[in-house]
Amino acid sequence: MSLNNTRIASIRTHVLSAPLSKPFLWSFNRADKREGCIVEITDESGATGWGECFGPAKLNAAVIEAFTPHLIGKDGFAIDAIWQHLYNQFLDQGQKGLVITALSGIDIALWDLKGRRLNEPVHRLLGGPIRSEVKAYATGTYRLDEGNPLEYVIREVKGYVDEGFHAVKIKIGFDVSSDLELIRAVRSAVGPDIELMIDANHGYDALEAIRLGQAIADLDIRWFEEPVTPDNLGAYEEVRRGQPIPVAGGECDFTRWGFREILQRRAIDIIQPDTAAAGGISECKKIADMAASFGVRYLPHVWGTGIGLAAALQLIAVLPDTPPSYNPKAPILEFDRSEHPFRQAVLETPIEHGGGVVAVPSAPGLGIEINRNALDQFRIS
Ligand code: CA
Repeated sequence: MSLNNTRIASIRTHVLSAPLSKPFLWSFNRADKREGCIVEITDESGATGWGECFGPAKLNAAVIEAFTPHLIGKDGFAIDAIWQHLYNQFLDQGQKGLVITALSGIDIALWDLKGRRLNEPVHRLLGGPIRSEVKAYATGTYRLDEGNPLEYVIREVKGYVDEGFHAVKIKIGFDVSSDLELIRAVRSAVGPDIELMIDANHGYDALEAIRLGQAIADLDIRWFEEPVTPDNLGAYEEVRRGQPIPVAGGECDFTRWGFREILQRRAIDIIQPDTAAAGGISECKKIADMAASFGVRYLPHVWGTGIGLAAALQLIAVLPDTPPSYNPKAPILEFDRSEHPFRQAVLETPIEHGGGVVAVPSAPGLGIEINRNALDQFRIS
C-alpha cells in the first residue's frame, strides 16, 4: 500500500546572508558576505524536506517562485517526473545556470522529504550505501586584504594538517609567478605526505595554465582545478594535453547534457558537479553513472551550508569506485574551511570531521535536522 498525502502543499525559500569578519578573495572576486538559498517543501501530511541552491540566493529564490505553480499538488514522491517537467518547461532559456541551480534545490528537498516519509536515509533509497564514511580534504587559503600569503597561507595549511586532514586544496589563479612561489613554499612546508591540490577558479588562460602545470610537474599535485573558464572546453583540452597534472572542473557545469560533452571530449580528468547546482541528487546520480561508463572520476564540489554538504554526502555514499578494484580509490569530500557564519548554524547537529574523515549522515532523508532559529537569525527575505 502506498503512502497517503504525498502531494506537495507548499514551497518556501529562505534567503540567508551574513557578513564576513574578514573579506576574502579568489581569482576574480572578493567576498564580504556569505549567502544561501534554502528550500523548504511541505507535503499534505505536514512533513517537510530541505534543500539548498548554489549561487546567487535571491535569483535562485526568484526562479523557485516561477516553479511553484508547477509544483503545488504534484506527487512529491515522483521526483524524476517533477524534474523532467520543470526542465522541459524552462529549457528554452534554462539549460544551464540559475534555472538548474534552483531545480537542484527543489530536487534535494524532495529527496529529503521522501526519505523522511519512508524513514530511510537518501543513500538507501539510491541503492546504497557503498560507503558510510569518506575522507575529506580541506578547502581554504583564500587571499586576504592584508598580509603576505607566503606567511598566512602556509600557517593556514599547517593548521589543517594539525587538525588531521590528509589533503588540502590551495587557491591560485592570481599570477603565475607568485602562484608558483606559493605552491612550492606550501609543498616544502607540509612535506611529501600531504596531498595537495590547486584551484585557479578559472583565473588563467590555457597558456598560463600550461606554463604553471609544467613548472610544478615534480611537486606531486593531485589535481589542477578550473585552470580555465568553463565556457571554453577547447582550452580545457589544451591544458590537459599541455601539462602533466590531472585536470579537474565542473562546478560551473550542469546536467547530464552538459557533462556528456565534457566526457565525450575527455576534456576533464576529474569531474566536480555541485549537487546543489548541476541538477540535484537525481541528476548528479545520472552524471556519476555516466562518468563511470567513461572511466572518469567524480568528486562533488561542495561550497554551501550543511544542507548542501549533507546532500553531497548522501550522493558520495553511492558513488561507484573508479575503477572497481580490491583497493579502490574511494571519492574524497570537499570540506570548505573558509569563513561561513551559518554553514553549520543551520543544522541542529553540525557535520564535523574527525581526523579528516566525515561520516555519511544515517538518519532519514538527508540525515540532518534544521535549526529554525538560525534561519530566522540570518534570513534577509
Ligand atoms: Ca573550485
